[in-house]
Amino acid sequence: MWRAALSCSYLSSVISSSHLIRKASILAPTCTLGSEPEMAEPIQRLKSGFECFKKEIYEKNPETFRQLAESQSPKYLIFACADSRVCPSVLFGFQPGEAFIIRSIANIIPPYDKIRYSGTGAAIEFPVVYLKVKNIVVIGHSRCGGIRALLSAKDDGTLSTDFIEDWVKTAYPAKEIIKKAHSDLSFEEQCTKCEKEAVKVYLENLKTYPFVKEGLEKNTLSLFGGYYDFVNGSFETWDA
Ligand SMILES: [Zn+2]
Repeated sequence: MWRAALSCSYLSSVISSSHLIRKASILAPTCTLGSEPEMAEPIQRLKSGFECFKKEIYEKNPETFRQLAESQSPKYLIFACADSRVCPSVLFGFQPGEAFIIRSIANIIPPYDKIRYSGTGAAIEFPVVYLKVKNIVVIGHSRCGGIRALLSAKDDGTLSTDFIEDWVKTAYPAKEIIKKAHSDLSFEEQCTKCEKEAVKVYLENLKTYPFVKEGLEKNTLSLFGGYYDFVNGSFETWDA
């Protein structure tokens, strides 16, 4: 249990004994990062940030970190984009040990494929089978560069990147749906539609993993879709 409030200049979450209390504004710092975070020398910025975390969180919660040293039992498996603006720990104020987070370009979850997607498969198998997470949440977001790349990709198979187009085309079914249903919309509007449609595709792909399917059938696992719009500051979820 957390007993200390975190008041670093770059974080806005207050953590109380068992609840997360969101503050609208950034709190006054109780520890200094040395200078404005964005101006600091890169490694010094990391060191200052860690010292702040160590002083305000780690050293004030020894029992929590003693328990975490033994094991982890996260409630959530979160899929989020690697985009620097959508960090789930910042958005939801996750405590250490609370969420197992997988981030990738466009938060893509490919269908079960032991040869092509063993990395993603392992990242799902471990938290589902061994950590027994109970909730999987797949979160899309506004202005996603990965979705933009998917909608921009040439249909003739011509590639202009080494990896990006090959990766994002995993979400091609979402593009197909948007192109058919919303051909009248602007490219930007299609991107917004596709950001949500892709999450639906990923949720269906998740069901192709035997251990996910089993968890759903036994009612030990729940799937949720989510969408974070950082332009309008909103977050929505839905049951899969
Ligand atoms: Zn993205």
